[in-house]
Amino acid sequence: MHYKNINSSAKKSIALVAHDNMKQELVKWCQFYKEKLSPHNLYATGTTGLLLTKQTQLSITKLISGPLGGDQQIGALITESKLDMLVFFWDPLEAQPHDPDVKALLRLAAVWNIPVACNLSSAEFLINSSLFDKSYERSVPDYERYLAERR
Ligand code: PGA
Repeated sequence: MHYKNINSSAKKSIALVAHDNMKQELVKWCQFYKEKLSPHNLYATGTTGLLLTKQTQLSITKLISGPLGGDQQIGALITESKLDMLVFFWDPLEAQPHDPDVKALLRLAAVWNIPVACNLSSAEFLINSSLFDKSYERSVPDYERYLAERR
């Protein structure tokens, strides 16, 4: 596979997801960083989004609930280069009915080289990075070239 660089703009599109036992942690993190988060485009899976909107008043595009396909919707946005970052507090101590979707989402985030925070510490590192509010060139699979080579 060949790769090309694309631009993640200074205004980021960020997906926020948390499994049930992790939701309060994500709410607290979003409350603490509300001012840093609010200039960006925020997306969330259904239940996480409802909770975050209620408890932080951040403006968030809500997708369908994770177990009903929300993780897959986020994955699709990643493949379309419409997301720049994923904060996904998945639960390491409880089995999820939609585990295949969780794995698929994490896999796509790796394929498309977007920064992912899977716990509080990594979320702290991401949001406090000097790159958080700057444009950033990231390397992604060059699918157009892949197609061109097969014509
Ligand atoms: P939810 O989904 O925000 O609808 O709870 C999260 C998930 O499990 O992916």
